[in-house]
Amino acid sequence: GFFCFEGLDEDLVQAIINKLGFQLPSPIQRKAIPTIMNGNDALIKSRTGSGKTASFLIPIIAKLGDHAQVFGPRAIILVPTIDLVSQTVGVALKLAKCRKPALSVFGIHGNAKIEEQFFRLASSPAPDILVSTPKRLADIITQIKAGGDSLNLSRLQFLVLDEADELLSPQHLEAVTTTIDQVPESAQRVLVSATLPESLVQFRAAKLRDAEHVRL
Ligand code: AMP
Repeated sequence: GFFCFEGLDEDLVQAIINKLGFQLPSPIQRKAIPTIMNGNDALIKSRTGSGKTASFLIPIIAKLGDHAQVFGPRAIILVPTIDLVSQTVGVALKLAKCRKPALSVFGIHGNAKIEEQFFRLASSPAPDILVSTPKRLADIITQIKAGGDSLNLSRLQFLVLDEADELLSPQHLEAVTTTIDQVPESAQRVLVSATLPESLVQFRAAKLRDAEHVRL
C-alpha cells in the first residue's frame, strides 16, 4: 500500500488512509508518486477519475514537510475551472492537516473578491499551497507588479498544471505564461493531462526540463 513509497512519513500515510479513505494506490499514483518524489519534472497522462489529484498532492505534501514561515507560496497548482479549485483544495486540506501545525492551503478564482485574495497573499506566513484558475493568478501577479512589488515566488518549489491540455490552449495560454514567467528555474514542474500536449510550442511554454513521462 502507501507505506511502500519511499519518503512518505507515517502521519501522511495515515491521512491518506483515514482522511481520504484510500487503501491502495491507483495505477497512476503508483507511477507518479515515485517520479515526483525523485525530484523529476513529470508529464502525467491521466484522466479524471484515475486518482490524478492525489498523484501529485501526496508527493508534494511529502516533500514540503512542515509549515514554513516564508513569504510566498511553496506550491502553485493551476486548474482550468472553479470547480476544480474547490475539489483540489478539499483534497489538499485533508492531507495538509497531517502536519502540526497544518500546512496552509488557499484557493483563488475569478468569482471571489480580489482584494481579499491580495490581503491573504500579502500576509505572512504565505499559504504553503496556492490553488488557482489561470486568469486570477495572472491578474494578481500583473497588478502587484504594477504596484512596484511582485507576488514573491522565489520560494516556489512546485508548479502543477492540472488539465494541462486545457491550460495550454489558446484560451488560457497567456495567463498561464504570465505565471510561468515568474516561476524560478529550480521549481519542479508537473503537468497532468488526459491527452499529451501535441505541439512543441506547448512544451516550451511550460518550460519542462527533461520531463519523465508517466502514463498507463
Ligand atoms: P481524481 O482522478 O483525482 O479526480 O479522483 C477520482 C476519484 O477517485 C476521487 O473520488 C478520489 O477520491 C478517488 N480516488 C483517488 N485515488 C484513490 C485511491 N488510491 N483509492 C480509492 N479511491 C481513490
